[in-house]
Amino acid sequence: MNRLAVVVVALLVAACGTEASSPALTTGPAPSADATRAASAQPAPATGVVDPAPGSDSVVYAPNPAAIEVAIEAGHGGCLDWGVPDPSERGPAYAEETMTLAIARELRDLLAADGIGVIMIRDEDEALAGDDYPPLDCHGPPWRDVNGDGFAGFGDDDLPEGTRTRDELQARLDLANLSAADALVSIHINSPTQDGVPVEVAFTETFYTDETAWGASETARLAEGIQAGVVDHLGAIASYERGDRGIAAHNFYMVAPPLFETTEERPDALRQPTRGGLMPVILAEVGSITLRQEQDLLVSAEGQAAVAAGLFDGLAAFFGGRDLAARIGLADAVDGVPRPVDGDGPPFWPAAVPEGPLGLRLTNTGIATWPEGIELVAGWELTQQPYLARAPEGLDRLSADVPALGPGESVVVEVELPAMPDRRGVAWISLRDGSTTLADRGSPALQLASEAP
Ligand SMILES: [Zn+2]
Repeated sequence: MNRLAVVVVALLVAACGTEASSPALTTGPAPSADATRAASAQPAPATGVVDPAPGSDSVVYAPNPAAIEVAIEAGHGGCLDWGVPDPSERGPAYAEETMTLAIARELRDLLAADGIGVIMIRDEDEALAGDDYPPLDCHGPPWRDVNGDGFAGFGDDDLPEGTRTRDELQARLDLANLSAADALVSIHINSPTQDGVPVEVAFTETFYTDETAWGASETARLAEGIQAGVVDHLGAIASYERGDRGIAAHNFYMVAPPLFETTEERPDALRQPTRGGLMPVILAEVGSITLRQEQDLLVSAEGQAAVAAGLFDGLAAFFGGRDLAARIGLADAVDGVPRPVDGDGPPFWPAAVPEGPLGLRLTNTGIATWPEGIELVAGWELTQQPYLARAPEGLDRLSADVPALGPGESVVVEVELPAMPDRRGVAWISLRDGSTTLADRGSPALQLASEAP
């Protein structure tokens, strides 16, 4: 079978950006932090000595751009998921997965040139959770049950609908979460239809969730910036009418918070991620593939550069207005990005607590100085999940003194975690100001496991 058969399947399963949409893993390179970083790395300072903000001409975060990590997810990808295929059947170059990857790479280059760290959730035509379906000539890596629902795979009638999609999207969320990305940007292109018939309109729309621990505030702000940026930049070069549909709170799988209990509106726990985004996540439907002129624009280098510039502007607006934020990492970590492990379960796991004294690097990644009295807190929770989707009950204050760092400043502190459990557990380490932790404000906690994956 050839790509034509794949197109048919893609048409069946790939409603763009919905729970039914499905990205898919090939034996490509492991996802990685972008190697191109500003030359702002400092020699390791003595414990407790404040490392000054390096300063830069970064547009996104001038005080210390290398301390920011943006995760970019190019929607769809792999042999089995082209996203919205080319409705005019001009081939894979015109499919959603190809355009989203090109835009993602363009955005990566803009951010890297600005000194910002980038995690490419996929940097090839690949998927993270399996892509193996010989009937459609897809011979990617074997399927993995990433979300822990007991199902994995594709094409078997006994599988719950959307199994492949949920495992794939969970793997993508896990990579962003365990990298402690400051923001996750999911790039999609819409294919509006009415009664199954494509509607020839062009517009931009951005989705987010308002159910995070930090409410809607930070995530909506990110969505607004992204939406405005893409609308402005695409509008400036489009020779046809485009719409601005604004932002909308909608729990698509990628932007949904973890669902701890089912609710009347959401009776099916399967339809939510097991471990939702721990940072502001947005899903941008940057344009529409159904209007031929827009599709041609989005396939062009000029159109892709415009979308990337819009996303970049949105990120700059977001980080330029984020007051209280932190990056917490192991003092000797190289990049903090997990590498996939082999097996048939989740590919991404937290690092194990290192032997000996635990050195943490704390960096102020907001635009406000940290309040006096901010303190490090940590707690363990027993779990067979790779990591925690929310803070454990009861966080203990750690003994280290945390200075009131200014924007971009960092410090290395040595701490002792609460006693490690005798069964597998994961430690959750955050900063607390009064009753609120920074994890509750969208800066992911550092998570370390009691044992190696
Ligand atoms: Zn899509």
